[in-house]
Amino acid sequence: MKKNIHPGDRVKISLPNEDYSGVLLESTEPGIIMLKLDSGYNIGLNKRDILEVRLIKKGLDIKEKIELKKDREKRNIAMIITGGTIAARLNPRRGGVDWLDTPENLFKFYPEIFDKVNVIKLEVPFMKASEDMDFRDWKKIAKTTEKLLRDSNVDGVIITHGTDFLHYTSAILSFFLRNLNKPVVLTYSQRSIDRASSDANLNLQCAALAAISDIAEVMLVGHASSNDDFCYAMPGTKVRKMHTSRRDAFKVVNARPFAEIYPDKIIKVSNYRLRDNGRKLRLDTKFEEKVALVKIYPGQSPDILDYYMKKKYKGVILEMSGLGHAPTKRARIGWTKKLKEVQKKGLIICATSQCIFGRVNPLVYSNGRELLETGIIYLEDMLAETALLKLGWVLGHDEWAKSKEKIKEVMLKNFSHELNDRLVE
Ligand code: ASP
Repeated sequence: MKKNIHPGDRVKISLPNEDYSGVLLESTEPGIIMLKLDSGYNIGLNKRDILEVRLIKKGLDIKEKIELKKDREKRNIAMIITGGTIAARLNPRRGGVDWLDTPENLFKFYPEIFDKVNVIKLEVPFMKASEDMDFRDWKKIAKTTEKLLRDSNVDGVIITHGTDFLHYTSAILSFFLRNLNKPVVLTYSQRSIDRASSDANLNLQCAALAAISDIAEVMLVGHASSNDDFCYAMPGTKVRKMHTSRRDAFKVVNARPFAEIYPDKIIKVSNYRLRDNGRKLRLDTKFEEKVALVKIYPGQSPDILDYYMKKKYKGVILEMSGLGHAPTKRARIGWTKKLKEVQKKGLIICATSQCIFGRVNPLVYSNGRELLETGIIYLEDMLAETALLKLGWVLGHDEWAKSKEKIKEVMLKNFSHELNDRLVE
C-alpha cells in the first residue's frame, strides 16, 4: 500500500473481479486490509489479491486543534452536544464508532456550519445515546439551553442528539421552556459523518439557519425526504421517529411543519411564535417520574395496572386501539372494572391512539362510551409519547396535581402545539 494512505482515509480497492469503496480501518492481522463499506459492514481483504488501492479522500487528523473564530458579518448561535450518531465517528482501529466529544473534533467534521453562523458557545452536558437518557438528562439540557439563551449575544441554540428517543426530548423541552423568545433547534444524523451517505451536513446547515430564524419554538430540524436537498422544521410535540434507517426518519404527525429549510432559504409553512428578545423565558422543569405508557393489545390483561399501583405510579397513558378502545365488558378479559377501580384509588389514566395519525373519539361506539364512563381522559390528537411527558410535567406541579378536574383541564390545554383542533383528515 502507498505510504500516503492511512487508516481513516476513504479509498477504492481493486481486486481482479471487483472494486470496493470505503474507509480504511487499522488492520489487526498481517496480510489483511480492513475496510468499512458505506453499508456499515467491515470486510477483510487479502493483500495478495489486491491490484490497487486508490486514495479518494484524506481522513481528518482528529488530534489537530482548531480555533473557534468570530466573523462580524454572521449571527451568533450556541450549541449543545449530547451524543448520538451525529456526534460519533468511525474508529479506524476498531471499526466501531467513537464520540466526537470535544468542540475541536466536532467542528472539524462539520466545517459547513461556520459558513452560516458563528458558534460562540458550546456545551457538552453529557455524551449519551438517546436511549440512555431520562428526565434528569432532559432537565440538564433544558437548564443549559436556558442559560445559553439568556446571553443576549446568542440568537438561537442548536442541540445535537441521538435519533432514537429524540422526539421525547423535543416534546419535554417544549413544556420545560416556557415563554420561549428565540429558536431552540434539535438535530440529528442517521448515518455518521464518515459514511458517504451521511445526512449530518444538510441537517446541521439547515439547523444553523433555523437557529437564526424568527421561529421562536422548540423544533426538530431534519431531512424532509431521502434526497439531500432540504429539511423540515417540525414542532417538537408533533414529531415521531418513523423509520429505523432513512434520512427522513422523522415525520410531523397531525400537524404541518413550521417551515421548509434549504441551505440558503426558509419557506414558512404554518404559524409559529415569532422571535421576541423582550419576552422573558421561564424554565419550568417540575416533573413527576412515576408515569408510564402502556400499549393495549387484544386479549391483554388489565392486571398490569396493579403493578403500577403497587409501584406507586401517579399516571398512565394508554395507547389504545383506533378511536380509543381497550377490551370491554364483552371481552373474555375486560378492562372496564379495573379502570374504575384504579382511578377510584387516584391513578390518572389518559387515552391516546395506536394509530398515531388522527384523533381519539370515544363517542362513536358503545365500547368507547363504556370506557369513557369509567372516567379516563381522552387526549384528542396528542401523540402517546408527548402525552406521557406532558402528564409527567403536569403531575409534577402541585397546583395542578391536586384534583383530577384540574389535571384534565391542563392536559387538554394547548401549551406548545401538542393539540391540533384544525386537524382536517
Ligand atoms: N441509538 C442512537 C441514539 O439514539 C442512534 C442515533 O444516534 O441515531 O442515540
